[in-house]
Order: sequence, then C-alpha cells, then structure tokens
Amino acid sequence: MVNRSSHAAHIPQRTCVVCRRKKSVSELIRFAIIKNNVIFDLKRNIQDRGYYVCDENKCIKKIDKWVKKHKI
Ligand SMILES: [Zn+2]
Repeated sequence: MVNRSSHAAHIPQRTCVVCRRKKSVSELIRFAIIKNNVIFDLKRNIQDRGYYVCDENKCIKKIDKWVKKHKI
C-alpha cells in the first residue's frame, strides 16, 4: 500500500469563476461554453476550454450572468 496522504498538496486546484475562491477540483463542477450555452461537463469529457464553478447553488445560479458579462 502506498500512503497517498503525503500527496494531498498535489490535488489540483481551480478557481470558481463566480466567487473566485480556490478549491480542489472535487469541490467544483467543470463546464464549457458551447454555442453560448453552458454545458456542465459532468463526465469530464468535453474537449473545449473548461471553466470551474463551485458545486453550490449560489454560484451555479450566477453562471449565466458571468457568461453574459464576459461575452464568452
Ligand atoms: Zn464559487
């Protein structure tokens, strides 16, 4: 058995586009903007540029606003 706990610091972190908090990817939902639609990449198989948002309603609800603001 390999003790993986010593690798905890290597868990990739991403920033939520809405609240700008840094979290590990397991606490975030990846999504892509495809033809002006927000597509949640739940299976993590979308090749397009991905963005991350907190797995929380208060951030998810603001994605549309964020997309409009940034004209993606
Ligand atoms: Zn957030």
